[in-house]
Amino acid sequence: MSTFLYLECLDHTPGIIAEGESGQHLSDLTQIRLDIANREQIVKAWEADDFHPADHFHRNTVCFLSAHPSCDLAIVDEYGREHSTHLDAWASVSATRSSTSGGRTSRRTPWRICARPSGTSSARL
Ligand SMILES: [Zn+2]
Repeated sequence: MSTFLYLECLDHTPGIIAEGESGQHLSDLTQIRLDIANREQIVKAWEADDFHPADHFHRNTVCFLSAHPSCDLAIVDEYGREHSTHLDAWASVSATRSSTSGGRTSRRTPWRICARPSGTSSARL
């Protein structure tokens, strides 16, 4: 079963939830937490055009982090449940289990280009 995960910025009222999902399974929480933990370096590399995440979810995460570089963040799933952003929060991951299976196809949100802050465009081909 898939569980789409989204980043949410808590520094706005109401909170701003990312348009693009950051993960598709609860197991992706680890990567999202790592990205949040390393937000400063990741955003810096991203803005310097020095970081090119190949993964769709990873890119959504970095894009959102770049837009909210110092905000208080949360991770929410498509069912409205909130997950800890702490790296060692394994308990909340293993506690959730559902027996629902099959039948449901992935809900896909259209891919949106995440624009880097304007600046020099790379001369790559
Ligand atoms: Zn924010």
